[in-house]
Amino acid sequence: MRRLVVLGAGESGVGTAILGKQKGYEVFVSDSGKIKENYKNVLEHFEIDWEASQHSENRILTADVVMKSPGIPDTVPLVVRLKEKGVPVISEIEFAARYTDATIIGITGSNGKTTTTLLTNHILKKGGANVGMAGNIGDSFAKMVAERSFDHYVLEISSFQLDGVTDFRPHIAIITNITPDHLDRYEYQFEKYVASKFRIAQNQTSEDYLIYDADDSVIVDWLARNPVKSKLLPFSLEKMVDEGACIKNNEIQITTANNTITIMTNSLALEGKHNVKNTMAAATAAKLVNIRKQTIRESVQNFQGASHRLEKVLKIHHVQYINDSKATNVNATYYALDSMSAPTIWIVGGVDKGNDYRQLMPLVREKVKAVICLGSDNTKIKETFGNVVDLLVETFAMEEAVKVAYKIAERGDTVLLSPACASFDLFENYEDRGDQFIKAIKSL
Ligand code: ADP
Repeated sequence: MRRLVVLGAGESGVGTAILGKQKGYEVFVSDSGKIKENYKNVLEHFEIDWEASQHSENRILTADVVMKSPGIPDTVPLVVRLKEKGVPVISEIEFAARYTDATIIGITGSNGKTTTTLLTNHILKKGGANVGMAGNIGDSFAKMVAERSFDHYVLEISSFQLDGVTDFRPHIAIITNITPDHLDRYEYQFEKYVASKFRIAQNQTSEDYLIYDADDSVIVDWLARNPVKSKLLPFSLEKMVDEGACIKNNEIQITTANNTITIMTNSLALEGKHNVKNTMAAATAAKLVNIRKQTIRESVQNFQGASHRLEKVLKIHHVQYINDSKATNVNATYYALDSMSAPTIWIVGGVDKGNDYRQLMPLVREKVKAVICLGSDNTKIKETFGNVVDLLVETFAMEEAVKVAYKIAERGDTVLLSPACASFDLFENYEDRGDQFIKAIKSL
């Protein structure tokens, strides 16, 4: 019997174990930390062998194939030894994709993955497609392949998942954009991170499609130097394209196979330029799987965005409060500020991943009337924006930050939480940060 070893017993690990067991592998799951109670129960239920708080090398090095969870870096000694021994170490999407014939739409990028994934899934569902959504969202892809039979999958795929692919070949790949992020996992070499994102297209053939942001010079330059076989469908806000998506007369115009659909830009449910791009990407994918034009138009108009992403929370005394807690890097915050149309009180800060705030400067000068720092160390933000805005206040808890914002805000203003930083100094994660923001607003 072939042995599958799964490293890491989280959502993707447990899903892979279930699928492996179903496909006749002898499965062993090993986690160097604790395993959550619900996952233990699932493993027991499927009679899958597991260990926690350790890695028994003798049981791992004998594997025929190893699935490594995305959180485990390639540099840990165990993974290095497996590779030295010639044992294939793959990711969950690589493993699971081998067991489905469904059409796969794979979505990666530095920002916009979740939004584009949710929107693509929404349009396909409205169009009556038998579609499953997985990846970094909700249930694992592997578990879905084991338990359901979908005709289409929309997958949100991180670069860590892509690091572990060899044969994975999505019929439709989307790269939303590429800006520096997670560089700690790529030896601080941006090139390596870019290469990782492009693995989504490495096995594509001329029958497959790559949808990408043609305004993103990182993507365009890479493609010029490293051509892919896929049919290219660029999207752009700045230039015209023959095939792909662009703006003409204030409408999104999407052309594939000599067939064009137009969508009014001012009718979109999601605001902001970045969301025009996300909409272009999702709608292009939907068109490729033959969703009707009218359905695509209606779906992008009635889509409910994901929480913590430019989410309108409440209006109090004519002041709009917006939760963009998911903005954990400068690029995401750039688009948030860009989409503000009212004078903005900006709550920013947290754990800085080596941010360069300079690109925000023109937007801050134009739109921000006050900066409220919310982090345990706000030095860099104070230095950068102290002389740029009229008012800069330091706070160390969400409730305090929101109270200050409330005091400063005048009729017609917007209060925007868009931290450009990770949340781990003062919060559990970005969801906790966003939830605390909402709670503080509601108790004003
Ligand atoms: P991801 O899943 O890639 O992290 P999300 O859809 O969760 O992306 O969005 C993360 C953050 O980036 C949010 O603050 C959102 O407003 C912003 N964002 C969404 N789409 C884009 C885009 N195409 N370009 C830049 N920023 C974006």
